[in-house]
Amino acid sequence: MNISDGELMEGMLAEQGYEIVRRPEDADVVLVNTCAIREHAETRVLGRVSQLNGLKRERPDLVIGVTGCMAQRLGTTLLEQAPYVDLVMGPDGYRSLPESLERIAARRSTRARTQLAVLELHPTENYQGLEQLRSEGPVAWVPVQRGCDHRCTFCIVPYVRGPEKNRDAREVVNEVEGLAARGVSEVTLLGQTVNSYRSGEVDFPSLLRCVARVAGVRRVRFTSPHPNDVTPELVEVMAEEPAVCEHLHLPAQSGSDRTLRRMLRRYTVDELRAKVELVREAIPDIAISTDIIVAFPGETDAEFRDTLELMRTVRFDEAYTYKYSLREGTPAARLPAEDFVGADEAQARLEELIEVARGIQAEINAAEVGRVEEVLIENPGRQGGQVLGRTRRNKVVAFDGDTARVGEYTRVELRHTTGATFVGVEVSATAGALA
Ligand code: SF4
Repeated sequence: MNISDGELMEGMLAEQGYEIVRRPEDADVVLVNTCAIREHAETRVLGRVSQLNGLKRERPDLVIGVTGCMAQRLGTTLLEQAPYVDLVMGPDGYRSLPESLERIAARRSTRARTQLAVLELHPTENYQGLEQLRSEGPVAWVPVQRGCDHRCTFCIVPYVRGPEKNRDAREVVNEVEGLAARGVSEVTLLGQTVNSYRSGEVDFPSLLRCVARVAGVRRVRFTSPHPNDVTPELVEVMAEEPAVCEHLHLPAQSGSDRTLRRMLRRYTVDELRAKVELVREAIPDIAISTDIIVAFPGETDAEFRDTLELMRTVRFDEAYTYKYSLREGTPAARLPAEDFVGADEAQARLEELIEVARGIQAEINAAEVGRVEEVLIENPGRQGGQVLGRTRRNKVVAFDGDTARVGEYTRVELRHTTGATFVGVEVSATAGALA
């Protein structure tokens, strides 16, 4: 979502005649777009911004802006903590970005204080009608929804991104048609709970079907869905539309009913398992990934073990694992102090979870060695003469190839796995078809 927001800001500024440069040393304005989901990410931003202050000492005219969820969360406190920051702007303020930069420039010319905070949340702002500036390439992120109507008790998102706001379906489809005309063949539809999307009569399954049928679009993904909106209608579209990839990210968060209740996730473990079964029955070859948080306040050792049990029985292809991170302003932050799991215990749980998750991933991937998969070449590899591609099931494969082929589809035999990723060998189209 942040990459996509960055593209939106770049699009608006480019439209106003700004040139986008990649190195802060070459810029007159540096925007640091931020995430507030975890404390660690915020700490890194503060370090980054203080480094930029070194540049500002050399060039006092440099404008430093902090945008996004952390800017929204900290607001004017951030301007006090980092007095060299000129602009803080929350995720609903981007429409006024060019004007805000002009205001800062105008104030400077009168030697007035330049710091500016744009922090209003707008209940309907979905940036309809604005063009993102996307980098060239075969893959594009397409936001269809902003904000969230859930209130998971650990999560800061609803407080910094506001309520759910959906884009007009026609506009989304037009945008995807435009991308396909420019050579984009894979799109990922984005939203905080993307599958709760609804605009007028169009719900998410219908939108997904329309996007999957755009000429030139060969792959469609979406992230992140909420398990409750993984409905039979959605699964039917995923199974029927050839362009929809055989991958589902299904954030479980915990394998304990009591923890899920206290997280306000609004489903039980059995209901989550039923969603997995529904999807696997319709699409047997699907790869399923998940998010898990350990050491949520009040999580007992037995409840943590329930999460391990969920991992062992569902066998996710990939798991993004986190220690609970306290976010001021969220309901969980107000739980009694004695509920908070100690740092050492939280770390031990995370390490145990990672070991289990990685073991399962390695076993699943080892069983896939020998398969021949369609791969989209996305990037140069880490070693010269290699490229990195992604299968429809969202698995990363490194293989020998010319970096000029980024954007091409090919067929690759998966020869080895490192556990998380694969090393493969390209096969001819005929061999691939036979396999
Ligand atoms: S559904 Fe996702 S974005 Fe919304 S509150 Fe819950 S965790 Fe946060």
